[in-house]
Amino acid sequence: MSKQLYALGEAPPLGEVPEQMHAWLIRPERFGKPTEAFQKEVVNTPPIADDEVLVLVKAAGINYNNVWAALGVPVNVIAARNKVGEPEPFHIGGSDASGIVYRTGKDVTNVKVGDEVVMHCGQWSRNCSWVKGGGDPMYSPSFRIWGYETNWGSFAQFTKVQGHQCMPKPKHMTWEEAAAYTLVGATAWRMLHGWGASSVKKGDVVLIWGGAGGLGSMAIQIAKAIGATPVAIVSGQDKFDYCMKLGAKGCINRNEFDHWGMLPHWKDNAGYAKWLKGVRAFGSKIWDVLGERRAPNIVFEHPGETTIPTSIFVCETGGMVVVCAGTTGYNATVDLRYLWMRQKRLQGSHFANAEQSNQMNQLALRGQLDPCMSRAFVYDELPLAHQLMHDNKHPHGNMSVLIGATQFGQGASAMAPVSLVHPTLPKDDVHTSPAPYPMSVPLPSVAVAEPIAIVDDGTKVRDLMHRGVFSCKPEDTLGTVASIMVDKEIHAVVVMEGGKAIGVVSQTDMVLARQGRTQEQARAMLAKDVMTPGCATCDADMLLSEAVSLLTARRMHRLVVTIKGQVAGVISLTDVVHKLLG
Ligand code: NAP
Repeated sequence: MSKQLYALGEAPPLGEVPEQMHAWLIRPERFGKPTEAFQKEVVNTPPIADDEVLVLVKAAGINYNNVWAALGVPVNVIAARNKVGEPEPFHIGGSDASGIVYRTGKDVTNVKVGDEVVMHCGQWSRNCSWVKGGGDPMYSPSFRIWGYETNWGSFAQFTKVQGHQCMPKPKHMTWEEAAAYTLVGATAWRMLHGWGASSVKKGDVVLIWGGAGGLGSMAIQIAKAIGATPVAIVSGQDKFDYCMKLGAKGCINRNEFDHWGMLPHWKDNAGYAKWLKGVRAFGSKIWDVLGERRAPNIVFEHPGETTIPTSIFVCETGGMVVVCAGTTGYNATVDLRYLWMRQKRLQGSHFANAEQSNQMNQLALRGQLDPCMSRAFVYDELPLAHQLMHDNKHPHGNMSVLIGATQFGQGASAMAPVSLVHPTLPKDDVHTSPAPYPMSVPLPSVAVAEPIAIVDDGTKVRDLMHRGVFSCKPEDTLGTVASIMVDKEIHAVVVMEGGKAIGVVSQTDMVLARQGRTQEQARAMLAKDVMTPGCATCDADMLLSEAVSLLTARRMHRLVVTIKGQVAGVISLTDVVHKLLG
């Protein structure tokens, strides 16, 4: 061994792995702004297992995940690993890279020392029984994103990966270009190609949200490559040219429409009609772009909450909406009538397995996939690149940073097999949407999901409940119900039949009933037609803390209180708020 530590940019003799390496580290004590959380340090180079590979990193890709790792939210990735027995008190991030193989474990057969590679970011345990049985590793409980959920990512001189993560680097790309596309490219590949009969086919129309973004730019090219017709949606006319050069048949400016957001309630006639008008106008814009009345066979989704209702609506009968993120929110509202009557598929998708990553990489090797690298940084600017992302001041497309490469433009050793027009993004183009959440955030499972609990000070429901129930009969008109609400200054009326509470008419139900109707028509409707059926009850002797858990877990505002099985009163969240906040 000639040296214990090599300077950055100084490549050790091929196959020689020094004891130590330079790296950008995140430590829990400095979680916060990326410019402060990332610090340059020297650490021991990690040993590798039999199925692993050590790669000398030339360039690394920048992704949102490590903005979150730096902030330490929503997950402290270091603590999460420490909990499962991985002791390092730091995180080396980086889930995209290009580099040279320097050491291989004895079971690695797909690469050898000296190979130039790019790496996909999926890791799993080869001992997992699901994986051993030939199951898709993306469904393995051991699946983790390298460089976010695992340590030893690409923001260091050497990175530790599993053998299958290594794929040949396209010879015509520079190190920084090659480090830019794999995460988004493989994700888009699985979304479009991973779903059996619903996968993209020649002749399909594919509607792509965020066509100038990381995923969208890959999706346009992948759809085009198989002979499908991509239609891109962007937030401005200035990005049309970029998407067209990548292969879009046409583009739509989403800012020309305003029907976005969660679906209005189906009982809200006026709201629903307005939404329908907006979504139909959007649908006919797709026809304009295509020059024929066709609906997209696949909708490529990631904005989530604000766009899913539109995606489901415009998708062709029997088509698929495939989604890998909820950048604008997670409450995707679906009018199920369109889903079942027109037999559409709403398909979740997450990253990709090794086979799919390699299929995507074949496109890159053949020169048919532009990495869409919009900006590259030098090693010292790694925290800045993440800070720009954090502050939403980064350009669209994919960004990378030099690690071992000393200058931009190194690493390309051949002409591209086919010549592509390199599209360029509009000048001064930066993101305007909020930063998305990490690619994998541990989800609360049913078993561990906990309702909100308040401190139990012994208060019982009977201490706070309203005695007596303001009720109506199922056949009472809403006019009658409204009078009860106004006279008694209450927010809801319990619908009683044969001494039993069978439903509740709330103020919300009344407002929804009025939508699209005259006052007279609404007043003539019957309580049984608008009530929310069923009535959750609790005993007066239940602890208030338990009742609150029941209310919050079921997302309800009130419980009917019983004494000895007889309806005796109501307790509402308003009562709880009065108690908690005075
Ligand atoms: P990106 O480069 O930021 O692109 C996202 C695009 O979405 C933006 O360019 C923007 O384009 C569009 N957009 C933003 N707000 C929108 C809205 N309200 N309605 C419609 N479109 C909107 O991000 P990306 O790399 O493509 O990633 C997108 C999401 O996927 C992120 O949340 C990311 O974390 C996630 N992701 C998930 C996986 C996975 O495996 N599950 C993998 C990669 C990425 P316009 O403003 O031009 O419309």
